[in-house]
Amino acid sequence: MFAQVVVPLPLPPLTYRVPAGLALSPGDPVKVRVRKKLHDGVVLETSSEVPAGITFEIRELEGRSEDLPRFGKEILQMLKWASDYYHYPMGEVFRTFLPPNPAPLTARRFRLTAEGRRRLANGQQPRGKLQRSLCEKLLAAEAIEAHGEARASLRRMAEWVEEFTIADDSVAPPPERSSDPHSLTEMQGEAVAQIHASLDKRAFETFLLQGVTGSGKTEVYLRAAEHALRAGRSVLVVVPEIALTPQLVARFRARLGEGIALLHSGMSDGERSRQWHLLNRGILKVCVGARSAALAPIQNFGLVVVDEEHDSALKQEDHLKYNARDLAIVRAKHAAATIILGSATPSLESFHNSGTGRYRHLQLRERPGGQPLPFVHVIDRSKTHEEGSITAYLRNSIRDSLAKGGQVMLLLNRRGFSSFLLCEGCGFVPECPNCSVSLTNYRSARQLKCHYCGYNGEAPVDCSRCAHPGLVPGTLGTESLEEEVRALFPAARVLRVDRESVERKGALEAALAAIAAHEVDIVIGTQIIAKGHDFPNISLVGVVNADSSFHLPDFRASEKSFQLFTQMAGRAGRGDKPGKVVIQTYNPRHPSIVHATQHDFRSFAEEELRFRHEFHYPPFSRMARLLVTASSPTEAEQGAENIFRALSRVEVSPKVELMGPAPAVLSKVQNRYRWNLLLKCPQAQPLHTLIDLACNQAERLLPKRATLQVDVDPVSLM
Ligand code: ADP
Ligand code: ZN
Repeated sequence: MFAQVVVPLPLPPLTYRVPAGLALSPGDPVKVRVRKKLHDGVVLETSSEVPAGITFEIRELEGRSEDLPRFGKEILQMLKWASDYYHYPMGEVFRTFLPPNPAPLTARRFRLTAEGRRRLANGQQPRGKLQRSLCEKLLAAEAIEAHGEARASLRRMAEWVEEFTIADDSVAPPPERSSDPHSLTEMQGEAVAQIHASLDKRAFETFLLQGVTGSGKTEVYLRAAEHALRAGRSVLVVVPEIALTPQLVARFRARLGEGIALLHSGMSDGERSRQWHLLNRGILKVCVGARSAALAPIQNFGLVVVDEEHDSALKQEDHLKYNARDLAIVRAKHAAATIILGSATPSLESFHNSGTGRYRHLQLRERPGGQPLPFVHVIDRSKTHEEGSITAYLRNSIRDSLAKGGQVMLLLNRRGFSSFLLCEGCGFVPECPNCSVSLTNYRSARQLKCHYCGYNGEAPVDCSRCAHPGLVPGTLGTESLEEEVRALFPAARVLRVDRESVERKGALEAALAAIAAHEVDIVIGTQIIAKGHDFPNISLVGVVNADSSFHLPDFRASEKSFQLFTQMAGRAGRGDKPGKVVIQTYNPRHPSIVHATQHDFRSFAEEELRFRHEFHYPPFSRMARLLVTASSPTEAEQGAENIFRALSRVEVSPKVELMGPAPAVLSKVQNRYRWNLLLKCPQAQPLHTLIDLACNQAERLLPKRATLQVDVDPVSLM
């Protein structure tokens, strides 16, 4: 008998001989030796014959392991899929999946020995009052837990009592169900009916639930979750960022009346491990968590929910570069479960899939309370010719809002990693003729470069679209925004919220609480403030530099901008005060602005899909990114060039389009130079064939210290 064993090391599964007399099946934890050291691993498969291709001598495994739990079939399937699809060693996937403390939870208990029981039956009593009362307790209960003095006493009563180990199943008692369900609106009712019917069929099905923030999606998730739980099946809920969705978590807690496992990076290792084990044992049946919850050891699930399915925070950008949404879909498929993808602004991939019938499209068209969507006002900066970050119109709007006791939120796009050239006269930004993404300005070389295909052109002196002389670097002077705001509104309390300012644990929660408590008048923030949270007192939202959002060199820049502007609009006027949104831009006719202003997702999506189709971008193709990093720029370039040449010689059908190699937008990170190669193909299979080839030959193709990273379905191409 042979076993394929995966250990949490950067290795593929390893083959061992099973010792005679040991019966093993897939999912069993075992001890194995890898390069002389003992490791815990899990059996993936067993076979009675030597697996094909093995020529070396096969070692015997050491035996069962007590230091890992057993895993079910669904978990093994997930590990295998993630390893294959993301081209990442199975052992590393396994390590990513394991909690900080993978040893099963145990607890110590006491029970009466047979002798103790006999003695008590004969009327004998131990000496000592404490001892006597403990024996009474032991007679009444199978086993007891004891601490302190009681435990010390019990340990001294060896003839009466014995101590033993059990698996620790203790769960905090679930909270009382505290909230009554709303009676559903007609559209919610329709959605819930379809989802319930799907759950009853016990077949894999994907729903795209589209509805603006506040339209009642969470209520639909809750009804679906209740239905799945009633049928004895588990529920997995994945959200992009748990700190931004405290209300969702609280509502699941209050409504389901079940123990809920929460999984996110802000938890202590011990707590995280505990929840993980309780899920793996099927003791907790609901898991709510951030990205990594998509890897949760939950089994037998009937329902999966991915909220804000379009959010790029669902994509892990290092190590195992998985997309939690896609992993969740695959797991639902393996489990014959129903999955709901929820969003106000679905990803174009999901929207396209709902158009082709792969997903079923459900819509919640209005808010249950009937609050109107805010009015959006667009300022054309090419017409105002004003200095500084804040136009007179925005300044007056801020003043108005503050005077009426409202709060203001100003969105500042992340400082451009790259800079583009912009015409202040008409908003024109030079784009790559091949790739239709903005070209990056290399100021000293007076050149424009494409980060996708490597196209290189001379930086134009004047605008080619209008007569305006001179193009300017499009960073738009927002570095000084905070100072400007403080100078303009010296009496206002200003808070800045961005990735750096909320790095400390709990800082984001504190900032959100301060905003909710109206301890802040003006919030200046990056994307992070656009998400989640319901701040009833925000009456004005300003997008300061819209252009730096849609001119990122990214084929999804337009889509991400639309989502951002729509979300920002959703932040304004959620209470009883009507809201207002001001967008400052040099391109008022950019589709992401025009359609966000009209709150018109469908028109935006249709227009954007035409562009994607024309340039063969997803959803009309599958993409992968090969990133070569090295300690010198020439090595990185050489490595990428070698891989490019090796791959261009391979024939696959349909053909894979190779773009690049080109330096990455973030051309140097932690002293490593980065070069990109993009692969594009109408189908996934040829992509995987080429990636396998690149991985297998990487050692030969790359300079000595260069490394290759694979990113399938990349989200960020930085
Ligand atoms: P979303 O998840 O789409 O942002 P929610 O489910 O959070 O929307 O609903 C928004 C608000 O409307 C919440 O305060 C919720 O309690 C309330 N709500 C949801 N459904 C209904 C309903 N059928 N009737 C009344 N209020 C509802
Ligand atoms: Zn290009």
